[in-house]
Amino acid sequence: MSINDTLEVSGITVEVTRKDIKNLHLAVYPPNGRVTVSAPEPMSLDAIRVAVVTRLVWVKKAQKQIALAPRQSPREMVDGESHYFLGQRYRMRVRERPGPTQISIPNRSTIVLSCAADTSLTAKRAALDSWYRRKLSDVIPPLLEEWAQKFELTDVNWRIRRMKTKWATVDVSKRIITFNPELAKQNNESLTAVIVHELSHFYERNHGERFVAVMDAKLPDWRRRTARLNQALLSTEDWTE
Ligand SMILES: [Zn+2]
Repeated sequence: MSINDTLEVSGITVEVTRKDIKNLHLAVYPPNGRVTVSAPEPMSLDAIRVAVVTRLVWVKKAQKQIALAPRQSPREMVDGESHYFLGQRYRMRVRERPGPTQISIPNRSTIVLSCAADTSLTAKRAALDSWYRRKLSDVIPPLLEEWAQKFELTDVNWRIRRMKTKWATVDVSKRIITFNPELAKQNNESLTAVIVHELSHFYERNHGERFVAVMDAKLPDWRRRTARLNQALLSTEDWTE
């Protein structure tokens, strides 16, 4: 996908990509607060500029939030390093021993990486990633089942796939929710909010008033839960499209 245009709005560079979509979509990305717009193909650059100007307060707020957010540098998979699992912080202990690379949590504060002495950093990271996926795969089904019932929905499938900018996404016609493996680092409250958000899309496609009404009815404190997620956000997306 290529950038078609760039706009300068109040000193902010906005990358514009035209797509076969109905609504304009604005997003702000870490680590530098890069601003992108996906716009419907026929929309003029002037119209896009106006749309961005009307959301400038939101853009600046999102950029500020990203700048202030605590950021994790790439993990080196060494002793003493912090790793997050289900909202809890764990310290890593590396145990070298012959045999396959394994991850375990012996207590509420320690994550143990057991591996052979010559294991590469890439292999260590891959082992942790697949461990996160397995753990998340255990957590999702009962929660999803519980909430699908509350929404009176059946046959809602799911899968885990890494996405650059989203915690989760839903394909309503295929009845499948895709979860980001990064969610394994978040607590149950946040994961529930994500599930309720995606299930709400079965009733309302966009994030307008009706969507908010569904969320309010099903999970009244979703704003608090989402705010917590946003602090660890992959990107900040404009949900007012
Ligand atoms: Zn959504």
